[in-house]
Amino acid sequence: MRLYEYEAKKLFSQFRIPISKGEVVERKEQAKAFAERVGKPVVLKAQILSGGRGRAGGVKFASSAEEAEQKAEMLFATKIKGFPVKKILVDEQLEIEKELYLGITLDRINYKLVTLACCEGGVEIEEVARKNPERIKKISLDVDQRFYPFWGISLARWLGAKGENIKIVGNIAVSLFKLFKQYDAKLVEINPLILTRGGKYIAADARMSIDDDALFRHPELSQMGIQKRHEEGEMTEREKLAKEWGIPYLDLDGDIGMFPGGAGFGIMGNDFVHYFGGKPANFMDSGGGPTPERLAKMLILLDENPRVKAIFGARFGGISRCDDFAKGVVMFLKEHGLSKPMVLRMTGNMWEEGVKIFEKEKKENPEIFKNIEIHGIETPIEQIAKRAVELAKKS
Ligand code: GDP
Ligand code: MN
Repeated sequence: MRLYEYEAKKLFSQFRIPISKGEVVERKEQAKAFAERVGKPVVLKAQILSGGRGRAGGVKFASSAEEAEQKAEMLFATKIKGFPVKKILVDEQLEIEKELYLGITLDRINYKLVTLACCEGGVEIEEVARKNPERIKKISLDVDQRFYPFWGISLARWLGAKGENIKIVGNIAVSLFKLFKQYDAKLVEINPLILTRGGKYIAADARMSIDDDALFRHPELSQMGIQKRHEEGEMTEREKLAKEWGIPYLDLDGDIGMFPGGAGFGIMGNDFVHYFGGKPANFMDSGGGPTPERLAKMLILLDENPRVKAIFGARFGGISRCDDFAKGVVMFLKEHGLSKPMVLRMTGNMWEEGVKIFEKEKKENPEIFKNIEIHGIETPIEQIAKRAVELAKKS
């Protein structure tokens, strides 16, 4: 379960990790009142369960109470990364000398915990890890091991702390580790940990995710107002529509619409598309033996997504039947129409019947097929993925 920044910060302050003075507000007047009270510039941050808010316009600065009110109004009125903004964290603005990164997560490959420190904060750590891995200092730990203060010191030195700040930053690392363990976290992250012009280290952002299966061990969370949540309130409109239709569906940030068979095929298709240099716009699962109606709806989700530039389709008929698949595709083509190029492959159970349905329909309504390329067993699935990537690049 992911926590909101303001929730994670509550836990931070329990563990004496310094945070800036702030308040969570639900109305713009409250933002104004807070800014008036502190009498200093503030930063307003949309509380959504997603990172990268800064780049998406979810973090705003205000130098007066009036401006804080205006910015709050703007944030409440817009969606950030597809999420409506119901709460804003208004923080006293920090004067930044340097932005750093400190985090702890699970290393699932080596069955360890890993503490990460990096002098580049405020950027995506994954990107630093890819481009400049030597800039990240890692300490791997066994899950039952304690975190020794001297490790904290060595991370603090890596982060460039000087003098008495070495101990202060070291303690932040120790506290972060205690917090991670205490709450059965999967991730705790301070990005950025800010060194202020005044020489103080403050967690300007807080990201935390708790193992769902361990939530029963933490009734204290709900006493603190941190409720176990279905992350439904955070779904995109398309995900909600898919849920209404009973289709497992997730929006991703690429441009290739994925129209697979089952979930396994969906995951494999995702890997293929990445392999050929593309990025999927979604993950989806047709379920076993989907009806033509359901298949048509799956295609509507993709065709109406403005991000989607091309569609990758794959049906391996096992429990599901290729004739039903063809009927679903035809139903969609006739009733809705396909506005994006689509390449698909169909083989397996009732394949001949499926081909016949396509051929008959193509004879009668050739124009509805103009955006589709249909393949069978003769074309390996990799080729289909490759073609989808090409089509997306072309359009
Ligand atoms: P994220 O984009 O969702 O990770 O949101 P963050 O809370 O990390 O904020 C994004 C960026 O806004 C940070 O990297 C900082 O550069 C900036 N920022 C956040 N809080 C403050 C602040 O108090 N003062 C200043 N000057 N900048 C801030
Ligand atoms: Mn951040």
